[in-house]
Amino acid sequence: MINNFIKKIRNKWHNDIINKIFISNYDISWNVSGKTWFAEFENYHNFISDINIQDYIKKLFSISYEPPYSIPIYCDICKNISISNSFILYGIEESYSCNNCGMNSRKRAMYEFVYNQYRNKKNIYIQEAVTTAYYIYEKLFNKNNIIGSEYLGEDKTCGKYYNYLNNNIMHQDCTNMSFSDNTFDLIISQHIFEHIFEVKQSLSELFRITKPNGAIVLSFPFFLFQEKNNILARRIKIENKNEFNIEYLHTPPKFHINPADPQGGSLVYWEHGWEFLDIMRDVGYTDVKLHLYNNVYKGYFGCQSLISAKKE
Ligand SMILES: [Zn+2]
Repeated sequence: MINNFIKKIRNKWHNDIINKIFISNYDISWNVSGKTWFAEFENYHNFISDINIQDYIKKLFSISYEPPYSIPIYCDICKNISISNSFILYGIEESYSCNNCGMNSRKRAMYEFVYNQYRNKKNIYIQEAVTTAYYIYEKLFNKNNIIGSEYLGEDKTCGKYYNYLNNNIMHQDCTNMSFSDNTFDLIISQHIFEHIFEVKQSLSELFRITKPNGAIVLSFPFFLFQEKNNILARRIKIENKNEFNIEYLHTPPKFHINPADPQGGSLVYWEHGWEFLDIMRDVGYTDVKLHLYNNVYKGYFGCQSLISAKKE
């Protein structure tokens, strides 16, 4: 069925890119057939020593910022062809939103992954609640099977609901969550972990609330060529108080848009590299993998990634 859509979408521009990124010793037939995930890696060493992938990515990077402003795409959420427009101010993965459902490139790719791998799971936890993505997953999994939360401030109680932007929203602090051990079959975390200073403690909490045989899937800006996590800011506890000072190690400090705090935004503490996957293994997750994706028919350009793992 997807192949029929590809035939309708594919034009000279697609043919040109496929010719440009072709390299002799790497099979790119997936790019012609419209397969999204093309490689997976467990660590920095595997990735950096794969010469074909390195060559392929180099070519991708050299051409990927030339996509047209407006292109037809196949949207996995709408299950239809839609028009998407570029809006590259915040990076190409934030761009090319579907004109119908509004989901940008990385959110549509995450949905495709979740739909393919996990759509039969029950008891889902998603680390967002005031977003369009939350409602899309609520529709996929059914309202009774999914819980979403936002971080609403240090004075709030984890697990309690608050009136927020005219919604009844649950507050959770992911370094100290109110959920019982082994609660969820699937955890979805999208662009949260660059904003969390205590990475290991938070991953350890997510592992605690994941059920045995459960899974986690995460996306955040991932720095493919960085072995270690790069720190941009840190939280320093004020003695005898439950308060923190923030030390900025990068000028100017980096902020991302936060739907739960439209005025303030969210401070970026980390630029994560492959060390993040090691921390996931340290807290107990197994089968930790970074999946690389690109799909010119779906408006996923460049070389983007997401991470999945299991709890045995
Ligand atoms: Zn859509």
